[in-house]
Amino acid sequence: MQHGKKQKRLFSNAAWVAIIFFFGSTLLLWLFSDQLAIMFLYIPGQNISDLVLFGRAKVILVAILSILFALVSYVLVLKYSLMTVHRPPPPVIPQEAFSDLMLSREQFRKLYENSPVPYFSIDSVGNIRNPNTAALRFLGGTLEECISTNFYSLLIDEGDSSQGMSLLKAKVERSVPISQEEMRITTINRKKDRYALVSIYSLAHNSSVAFRHLVTLVDVSKERENEQVKTDFLLLASHQLRTPLTTIKWHIDYLLSSDSIEMPDLVREYLEQIYIGNERMIELITTLLTVSRIEMGVLAPQYEEVEVNKVVQDILAELSADIKKRKTEVVVTTEGDDVLTTDYTMLRIIIHNLLTNAIKYTSNGGKVTIESMFSPHSCTIAVSDTGYGIPIDEQEKIFTKMFRATNARKVSANGTGLGLYMSRAFTEKLGGSMTFYSEEEKGTTFTITLPRVAPEA
Ligand code: ADP
Repeated sequence: MQHGKKQKRLFSNAAWVAIIFFFGSTLLLWLFSDQLAIMFLYIPGQNISDLVLFGRAKVILVAILSILFALVSYVLVLKYSLMTVHRPPPPVIPQEAFSDLMLSREQFRKLYENSPVPYFSIDSVGNIRNPNTAALRFLGGTLEECISTNFYSLLIDEGDSSQGMSLLKAKVERSVPISQEEMRITTINRKKDRYALVSIYSLAHNSSVAFRHLVTLVDVSKERENEQVKTDFLLLASHQLRTPLTTIKWHIDYLLSSDSIEMPDLVREYLEQIYIGNERMIELITTLLTVSRIEMGVLAPQYEEVEVNKVVQDILAELSADIKKRKTEVVVTTEGDDVLTTDYTMLRIIIHNLLTNAIKYTSNGGKVTIESMFSPHSCTIAVSDTGYGIPIDEQEKIFTKMFRATNARKVSANGTGLGLYMSRAFTEKLGGSMTFYSEEEKGTTFTITLPRVAPEA
């Protein structure tokens, strides 16, 4: 109602302006009517014989022009008024809210400035702006030096992290909301290199602010160093231990298999026990070596055609004594052509590990099922058991290195917590994935999906 009234008033206002314009312009045009008539009506060389006719034409011209002016003024006034009427009034911020806003702004500024975490912003090509004090310290430069430096020029391109760098740049260009990479980064004077977790938070793509990518840096050099020391130690220790253990194995093997050596039954029994213990140590060291290789990123799969069912049967034959002792029922089902192009050793370790776990973590007389399904592009192998299961609150840590669930530690003291970590790393290396479902006291199913042909093959 109110709106309709307003609009009516606008139309009548515009009409009044148009009327005033009409009379005003008529008056003005009439004053200059002779000149106008000569300009528009007179053709040079023409003889103005009929003055009455000329006078009438002059009146018509003035009338037409006045009406035209009035119409134009009407339209313009109306358009302008409508525009101002429809424009929303500027928001009125209450004084209290305004003070709150200023306070939060001040708080944010103080936090940003004094935070121990280095913060700064970059534009889409990496130019730095607004570094806080911690950022100036981290980058080792003054404010002027920092803002005249390109952030990307401080990142060091090295081996596997070069891919991380181009990935990071591409993500910033596309304004992916959050990007994180661990990178080596140098100071502005190039005197100190560190490893940092670089996190970039980008504001919306259509934002008009150029420096809209917020960068934070976390120094992770210490963690990297510790990891490296651990890996080096593992590698060295494993190499040094493997040789004497292999020599022991060799000698016991000789003693046990030689017919020419006479020994009492008790000694033979002890030797067999030593042999089993030694085998376990060799297995553990091989696992530790493999884990170090995974961490160093130097795993190189050897691709070949592998028959999955044959691998499963071989492992079951190897575990038959244990299966028999525990009275475990084993069911194998398979569907489709079972040949994969993959790494034989890795696949064997994965399946071996899942099967030994299923047997180990199931009480005597339980059931273990191995189901393999093959489709044209992938293969799924599921190993299920009716065992103890994994406690729900410990499930998220199950692929963590050296993690063993509380119930598993109670039923079996033997275990390293490295098998699943290694198996998942292998599965991913071969282009696949590993998942599991488990219910305590009911059982567990580990499922791996692998491509028919490994992507790197
Ligand atoms: P390990 O068996 O040597 O302890 P793994 O890495 O193979 O190490 O397994 C890690 C942990 O995962 C085990 O200690 C156990 O708690 C849990 N786990 C693995 N498989 C099963 C399973 N089939 N049933 C119940 N728990 C399992």
